Order: sequence, then structure tokens, then C-alpha cells
Amino acid sequence: MIGPIFGSDARMRVSTGKATQSDGRMFTVVVEGFGVGLQRRAERRITVPFPQLQRLMQTIAQQGGRILAVNAEEVPAGSAPAPSDAAVSDAPAATPTPAKKAPVSHADVPVNLYKPKDPFIGTVLDNYSLLAEGAIGRVNHITFDLSEGNLHYVEGQSIGIIPDGEDANGKPHKLRLYSIASTRHGDNCEGGTVSLCVRQLQYEKDGTTINGVCSTFLCDIEPGAKVKITGPVGKEMLLPPDEDANIIMLATGTGIAPMRAYLRRMFEPAERAKNPEYQFRGKAWLIMGVPKTPNLLYEDDFQRYLAEYPENFRYTKAISREQQNPSGGRMYIQDRVTEHADEIFSLIEDPKTHVYMCGLRGMEPGIDEAMTAAAAAKGLEWSELRPQLKKADRWHVETY
Ligand SMILES: Cc1cc2nc3c(=O)[nH]c(=O)nc-3n(C[C@H](O)[C@H](O)[C@H](O)COP(=O)(O)OP(=O)(O)OC[C@H]3O[C@@H](n4cnc5c(N)ncnc54)[C@H](O)[C@@H]3O)c2cc1C
Repeated sequence: MIGPIFGSDARMRVSTGKATQSDGRMFTVVVEGFGVGLQRRAERRITVPFPQLQRLMQTIAQQGGRILAVNAEEVPAGSAPAPSDAAVSDAPAATPTPAKKAPVSHADVPVNLYKPKDPFIGTVLDNYSLLAEGAIGRVNHITFDLSEGNLHYVEGQSIGIIPDGEDANGKPHKLRLYSIASTRHGDNCEGGTVSLCVRQLQYEKDGTTINGVCSTFLCDIEPGAKVKITGPVGKEMLLPPDEDANIIMLATGTGIAPMRAYLRRMFEPAERAKNPEYQFRGKAWLIMGVPKTPNLLYEDDFQRYLAEYPENFRYTKAISREQQNPSGGRMYIQDRVTEHADEIFSLIEDPKTHVYMCGLRGMEPGIDEAMTAAAAAKGLEWSELRPQLKKADRWHVETY
């Protein structure tokens, strides 16, 4: 019996026989009050291979679901587990199931290792434009050397930068936050670096062009320069350790930064080699909004991932000044959400699906509107559903 890992609910029926980590059988968990929207009201059956069973049970317990039964299916010795609604079936075939998972707890995530009063002094290694000819504005990829200190981080966190100089009152500038665009191993996969994706803020005021203090400082900075760095901070945008999760990413402009880190962790060959405990097998869907084609960021990498992992990576673009939405207006990211509402909601019904949104704050109302309409088409109330997703740690937003 493997009863102890299932808790002590008296109503639950458990029928398993002996199970081991190398068990090739599939297990069907019968659960009620689990999932989002209409799913919570129905009794559901979720089938997973044994290595994923404990994690599923934990997720159900965390989300307040009630397990009614766990049944094991017999399979012929040596045969592979069959696909299920919880385990994504079209994963890269040769990927082994790891014995050990990455840390799950948010408590394991480093925060505020360096504070503004005593920042880390990083050295600029690289600073180059991410934009192609004809793009609007200025967006740079900037990498810092961290090797002399103890500043480490995980995907989805941010760091603070304190620009050189003083503000209008003669005081040192305050820090600005930037989402980390590299994985914990850095762009060289050797550790000891961090990369950012920074757009220079520029606007017109009384006929004068105003340049943002920190974004201009960063976009202009030369390799070799020393920079005050704080952090890391943030637990909102962490990637789940589940290799079978589905990850929907909604990004505008530099909001691509955390998504670039996730996608490298999922698909970059050197990263996969570094992470035997994270061999991504789920679906990753990036929906990216930019004004013009030359403003697309990290495009070559994403095209490579598409070619190498066509079953696992999907990439949808909203290029507002070049594409039209069905009403003849500019194509924004929310128009793409509306266009694919059915598929997005089908994915969201799967408890393994997480949605991440990052970019300028102005993107939020449009996405909310699109999700409201998409939910209504399925007989669901987005205003009820979103807090449930948030509570289940499956709806992640970082806008600025
Ligand atoms: C969690 C988080 C993550 C972030 N990640 C990134 C990232 O990955 N990449 C990135 O580029 N940025 C990111 N930012 C934004 C970044 O922190 C800075 O806010 C941004 O770079 C501007 O800073 P600045 O010093 O250049 O501008 P500042 O000199 O501080 O100027 C900003 C101020 O200018 C004014 N202003 C701005 N626009 C206008 C306008 N159109 N008209 C009139 N006044 C205006 C406003 O008062 C605004 O507060 C992030 C922010 C947060 C909170």
C-alpha cells in the first residue's frame, strides 16, 4: 500500500497494491472540489504515472480538493506509461523521468542578498542592442559579472540598479527594478552573471526630449564599468518545478525578460544539460506584443526553439503597427488572446497550466477584457475565476 502519502480522508478509496519509484503503472485519482470554475463542482479523474502521483496529491491538498479514490492500472512489464490528461503526451521522447526535483518551496528562493545601503558592485561584461534596423526606440541586453560576490537568483526574479549620480535634490538616485532575463546559470551557463533587457525611457515634455535616468544610464554603459546592484527580489513570477506544466506567457516589449529566462531553461541545449531535474515536457506558449517586426526581441533564439521543440513551444506575435485585428484596428496582444480564447481556456482548465503576464502596466485592462469575454463564452465569470487561479498560484502578473 502507498496509503500514507494520500492523507487520511475517510471517504477516500485507495486501490493500488505495492508501488515503487520505478513503477511503470498509471494511477487514476478521483477528486472533487479541485480545479477552476466549473471543474470545482464536478468529480474528476486525473491519470498520472507514479513519479508524478505524489506531486499531484500535494497540489490537490494545497488547493483544497478532496480525493475520493486512487486506483492503479496494471500495465505489461517494461511498457512505457500511457499518456494522460495530466501528463502531456507529446513530450520529447528520450527524456528520462528524473529521480529528484528542484526546490519547490518559495522559502528556498533568495531575496535581498544585497540592500541599497550596501549594494553589490557588478562589472558590465556586455551591452548591445536587441533591435533590428528600423525599430522604434532603444532596447539593450546588458550582462553583469557577479563572480566576486554572493548575488544569486532564480528565473522570474528582478534586481535593483542604482544609477550613478544624484537627483534634483542632490541625493543619490533611488534604485530601479529590472526583471532578470537570464537563467540562474547566466547566458554563458557557467554561473556568476546576470543579464537584463532594458528599454530606454524617452518622452517629450514642453518640446524637450526627456531621457529616463536609470534606463539611459544602463543603455549607455560601457563594458568594464562598475554598477551598484541590489536584490534579488520577487516571488511572483517563479516558474513551477513541474516539468509537465503548461506555461502561457503574455509579454509586451521588455516584459519578455522573464519569459526569455523561462524559455532558455526549458529549451536551450546547454541549460537542459545543466538541469537534469528540469527536462521540460509541457507546452510553452509565448504570446508577444511589439510595435514593429524589428522590435521583436530574442527572435533568433525563439525560432530555434520552435524548430527544435515544435510539440512543446508555440509562439504567437501581435505586431501592432503592421497587423490588423478583426475590426481593422491595430493588432494588440489582447486581440491574440481573444482570437485563441478557446485554446487558452482549455489549457487553463488543466491544473498544470500557469499564466504569466509581464510588460507595461497598460496591457492589463486589455487582457482582462479579453479574458472576461473568453470566459463568458464558456459560461464562466472571469472575475471569479481569476482570484481562484491567483490563489492556486497559477496566475502571475508583473507589470510596471
Ligand atoms: C518589477 C519591475 C520590473 C521591471 N523590469 C523592467 C525591465 O525588464 N526592463 C525595463 O526596461 N524596465 C523595467 N522596469 C521599469 C524600470 O524599473 C524603470 O521604471 C524604467 O527603466 C524607467 O526608469 P528611469 O530611471 O529610466 O526613468 P525615470 O527617470 O525614473 O523616469 C520615470 C518617470 O518619468 C515620468 N514619465 C514617464 N513617462 C512619461 C511620459 N510619457 N510623460 C510624462 N512623464 C513621464 C514618470 O513620472 C515616471 O515615474 C521594471 C519595473 C518593475 C517595477
